[in-house]
Amino acid sequence: MEDMEIDGTEAQPYVLIETGNLPITVGNRPIYTNGRYISKSTPTPLKSTKTGVVYDRRMRYHANIHEEEHHPEDPSRISSIQSMFKAAGCLEKMIPINAREVTKDEVRLVHTDEHWDFVAKTSALSEAQLGKVADDYNSIYVNKETALSARLSCGGVIELCKAVARGDVTNGFANVRPPGHHAEINEPMGFCFFNNVAVAAQCLKRDLKIEKVFILDWDIHHGNGTQKAFYNDPNVVYCSIHRYDNANFYPGDPQAGHTHVGNGPAKGKTINIPWPRPGMHDSDYIYAFNKVVMPIAYEFDPDIVIVSAGFDAAEGDPIGENHVTPAAFGHMTHMLKSLAAGKLVLALEGGYNLDSISNSALACVKVLLGEHPAKLGPIKPSQECVETIYQVIRVQSRYWSCLKPIYIDSAEEKVPGKLVIDIMDMVKLFRTRYLFSKLKMVPAPLAPERLANRFTDLVCCSNDLHCKDVIIFFVHDMADYRADTCATSNLTNLATSYMSDSVYQYIETIINQSYGIVDVDVPPPTNDTQKTDLHDLKDLLIFLWDHFVDYANPKKVVIIGAGRGCRSLMHCINDRDTMIMRSTACVIMVPGNNDPVPTIAKKGDIVNWYFENSLVLLPENHPFWTKKGVKKDSGKCIPVKGLNNMSIHDKLHILRQDIIDYFLQRLTDFIPPRQ
Ligand SMILES: [Zn+2]
Repeated sequence: MEDMEIDGTEAQPYVLIETGNLPITVGNRPIYTNGRYISKSTPTPLKSTKTGVVYDRRMRYHANIHEEEHHPEDPSRISSIQSMFKAAGCLEKMIPINAREVTKDEVRLVHTDEHWDFVAKTSALSEAQLGKVADDYNSIYVNKETALSARLSCGGVIELCKAVARGDVTNGFANVRPPGHHAEINEPMGFCFFNNVAVAAQCLKRDLKIEKVFILDWDIHHGNGTQKAFYNDPNVVYCSIHRYDNANFYPGDPQAGHTHVGNGPAKGKTINIPWPRPGMHDSDYIYAFNKVVMPIAYEFDPDIVIVSAGFDAAEGDPIGENHVTPAAFGHMTHMLKSLAAGKLVLALEGGYNLDSISNSALACVKVLLGEHPAKLGPIKPSQECVETIYQVIRVQSRYWSCLKPIYIDSAEEKVPGKLVIDIMDMVKLFRTRYLFSKLKMVPAPLAPERLANRFTDLVCCSNDLHCKDVIIFFVHDMADYRADTCATSNLTNLATSYMSDSVYQYIETIINQSYGIVDVDVPPPTNDTQKTDLHDLKDLLIFLWDHFVDYANPKKVVIIGAGRGCRSLMHCINDRDTMIMRSTACVIMVPGNNDPVPTIAKKGDIVNWYFENSLVLLPENHPFWTKKGVKKDSGKCIPVKGLNNMSIHDKLHILRQDIIDYFLQRLTDFIPPRQ
């Protein structure tokens, strides 16, 4: 498309050309006056976009001949994409870039000599030997043509990257296979043999003196090979958005987590955005781009952008199970086009639904050719997305000014001579003092030492527990703290920050009724304690039941759980079921927004008892309501309007009257069985 523009309205020097009385128009707009043609003095044509495309049918020769069942990494992936380009009229507008075989010299920029030899030798192997090679490695298949296809795939990406870097074409799409981003330095893996994108990036640096490369990997899988190739390289950013599922999704490597950021001078140059679950949508990807990918990319200021463009996050992909639409792929391409003076290469990686990958690739290529991406609809990221991005920013803000100032680490400030106290410890001191001075409650002495170390000052009880007829056993999250922080220093403005705790109003009511109380403030998990946390809490609650609640021998007990403690409280109920059924008038649970509703683990009387005597209050959007076949062992679950996404303390505030009315009524109705 040639974009020669002549504009008679701009206040720039013009040349006047005599045209006689011939009217000259562009479109409907006359561009002459009084018979004189007006043009810019130095008419410079706007640069038009040229889009390259790599395709070579010999890349289809690599095929699965050993397994009976259909393999998702099928040769038809690239031909169906190519047909789509053709049918949409894009192919004729693109400039073909010939794939050629990568050389050993190039492959060695990323892989070992042994790896090159290993791939080369596969073409001379017998059928049986090929089958054995496939079995020896992680998720690959091999035939006699694999080596050729892999060399073409890698060489094709190199040629396109070089054409873009030199300016022969503006941008381009490498429609290649086998893919590359799982290929390790010395090993094929995950359908990949040579790491196409990594080798191409290294070639650009060596051969064309390109300094800074930004690699964006939107394939649903983490590009373990690419991350490793540049983990120590400060001039290559590797940024991956992938499904992680707590290291349970392929390749299942904890190195794909957000805390892995690169090494030495390259710290911050690896950016992992790990989704915690399947089912992520357009909004989640666009949010990740807006909050992390683009700010970092602008700050890094790359000379070229290469996308590991797998389409297995696309709607309809059987492996990825995400829902990214072609429109969103178009938008991501559009955003990346704004970097590096438009020098952008998309290289195919995974993607296993032929319709999905073809439509997605087409949407990207249309944007490469200059079309606008399709309209997306409102961007509303999921809770999991917002949480993931927040965690990524917390870690990466240490290395990128655009993400500051979230990063803090008290361990770094704890140096000799400086008084550094965790706010949680200050809060515990305040709380015990407040509960004593206002309500005459005292910290419960705890044993064994393990529990004492973790929970001292978090458990308070009435000082005359043993002479109470009714005891409320209340286990809840610590209060909400809302901090107002300075944008540049991250210091908290104490004058405008506050704590809000809804538990006090419950405790006051309980004490006014002359009931006893055992109150447990459950601390948030830290990285060190996360694993042992729930286990310790369960032991604590059983200890408290035995040595405080049951030991005081009250006539009636009410158990209330709110937040993280619900699960451990349920362990305690399961463990002490007979005693609990004997004295407990009711159990009230307010689980966290995404926490599973705790269930009775045992069979028999306890299940019916729990169902009859429990109240489980859930927001209307709690995942529990999407479950089929709800059973009695979850207790009597009630959806409550207006609780969606609220903090535990905000919920407790709203539910206060209902909860108090409920247990007061239950206490009136409850007649303990004869002892
Ligand atoms: Zn993939």
